[in-house]
Amino acid sequence: MAKVLIIGAGGVATVAAHKCAQLPDVFTEIVIASRTKSKCDALAAAIGKSNITTDVVDADNVPQLVELFNRHKPELVINLALPYQDLTIMDACLECGVNYLDTANYEPLDEAKYQYSWQWAYKDRFEKAGLTAILGCGFDPGVSGIFTAYAAKHYFSEMETLDIVDCNAGNHGKAFATNFNPEINIREITQRGKYWQNGEWHETDPLSVHQPLTYPNIGPRESYLMYHEELESLVKNYPSIKRARFWMTFGQEYLTHLRVIQNIGMASIEPINYNGQEIVPIQFLKAVLPNPKELGENYTGETSIGCRISGKDKEGKPMTYYVYNNCSHHAAYLETGMQAVSYTTGVPAMIGAMMFLKGIWKRPGVWNVEEFDPDPFMAELNKHGLPWHEVFNGDLEL
Ligand code: NDP
Repeated sequence: MAKVLIIGAGGVATVAAHKCAQLPDVFTEIVIASRTKSKCDALAAAIGKSNITTDVVDADNVPQLVELFNRHKPELVINLALPYQDLTIMDACLECGVNYLDTANYEPLDEAKYQYSWQWAYKDRFEKAGLTAILGCGFDPGVSGIFTAYAAKHYFSEMETLDIVDCNAGNHGKAFATNFNPEINIREITQRGKYWQNGEWHETDPLSVHQPLTYPNIGPRESYLMYHEELESLVKNYPSIKRARFWMTFGQEYLTHLRVIQNIGMASIEPINYNGQEIVPIQFLKAVLPNPKELGENYTGETSIGCRISGKDKEGKPMTYYVYNNCSHHAAYLETGMQAVSYTTGVPAMIGAMMFLKGIWKRPGVWNVEEFDPDPFMAELNKHGLPWHEVFNGDLEL
């Protein structure tokens, strides 16, 4: 069907590349390009298919991206590098007439602040160029928005509350490690919490609001209110929602390490001078922490991510709905060599790319995933390793 270019060769890109390679009728050619070519080569060799080639690019550099795109002429770029590169890659897409998909919204390097405004500002340009940009197509953001769109389409006349609940009940056996890029992860978790209620945003101190929530097949886990990027687009696209929140589980050991890291200044993004060299503490920390790509082998347990929604059903009667996926770290590792956090992000990225290439999610402009038809995507989740389950009129606990 078409050629895709994957940018990045980390945990998420590894899963997406494995999954794309399983569907040669859809992804006829796959190019993997990243900053370190040896990582792309190792990934291509691990997959071992003749339709995969590799290249090198600094995705912060638009002219380099333009040369890369012109060299390979892909139909779609799947951006699985870091959020800092979103805008340069979108600029190059516009210059070369290439469609775009990512899993995390833009964040400036020097400010731990992520919001969609920067990428939404490209809407007219993508529309005029006849190009599609699909934003936030991982699990959360990604499947969380698609679950919400599915609930709105099939069950609710009006959604009133939305709680996205993200539990990692896995154990990797390390004292402290993050499940995806440590710098991005720690920047996200140490931000102030934020939720939507009655038409406005409310802020909380970082991780100060928490309660136990019960996750299927796992049991109760302490869950912490955080700000998460999909809340911004979901309250805009579903204005009936009166309250929207995001919860994530953390173990006590993780939180203790995080507090120490912050207290000693290692989570700082401000450059400091060390022996005549400028270093950014959080980037140095990333260099000494376990590589999330290498956690998979001994990872036990599973993740459980879903949406808990209340409102009125199609007849106007009160209803609650919980839709979720559980994903085993070990099963993800056996299939792709990566743990479930990378797996639950890389699989939806592949499915979003498939939706675009099949013409199902092809619409010039810049879109969040919930703006497309959720049904074909939901069907593919069941086929590609992320089956989902529904609970009607249960206790949402929230
Ligand atoms: P990793 O750190 O494992 O991988 C990032 C990759 O991007 C590396 O291969 C890195 O290269 C490459 N890269 C970084 N900077 C550049 C650059 N300037 N030019 C070219 N390549 C570059 O991250 P993950 O795989 O864990 O995460 C990838 C993305 O997925 C992130 O944006 C993350 O926020 C997002 N994510 C989304 C989730 C969701 O559910 N929506 C959940 C988890 C992650 P090198 O190895 O040389 O540094």
